[in-house]
Amino acid sequence: MTISKDQSFTAVYNGVEFTATIDPCSWMYPGYGVQLTVKLQNGSTGSLNNKPLSFNTATTDDVQKMLSGVRLLACKTCDSSCFDPASVKTNQDGKCYSCIMRELRAELDADTQNENAEIAKLDAKYKKQGCTHRIDAWIHPARGDDFSISFWMKNPTVEEIQATIRKNKSTVLDDYNLVAL
Ligand SMILES: [Zn+2]
Repeated sequence: MTISKDQSFTAVYNGVEFTATIDPCSWMYPGYGVQLTVKLQNGSTGSLNNKPLSFNTATTDDVQKMLSGVRLLACKTCDSSCFDPASVKTNQDGKCYSCIMRELRAELDADTQNENAEIAKLDAKYKKQGCTHRIDAWIHPARGDDFSISFWMKNPTVEEIQATIRKNKSTVLDDYNLVAL
């Protein structure tokens, strides 16, 4: 039986079930071969391609044969399963989806903490120089993306703050936060 575009498949490795769907590039690009995305219940994914196989003539058996080469591993950091990177293409490198996501979040948190530490250092420095406030402002240029700036002032008036924002060529002058040091 030949395969259809929205067909999905299941296979089992060491008692753990995973599913496979056919990627659109398999029928959109001639000579691409059949490419599958495999997915575990826990969200881990991978892909595999069989270039000599043509979508138009491929059969269910052909796909099951591709899936029979897929191996699972225990995640490096927990008991969950993930795809063996030696058997499918995956950027998840031997870790399950939830461990990948948890590590990503931890990295982002660390970045935020570093940024906060950096700002705190500058706050201390400018406070020593007599500044009383930090201004965190969004600059809205006439062209291009918005960006944020921070600057420090001593007892600033609204006019003084807006003059600095204007100097940075913002079309909006009141998009800022005043933070007492
Ligand atoms: Zn894990």
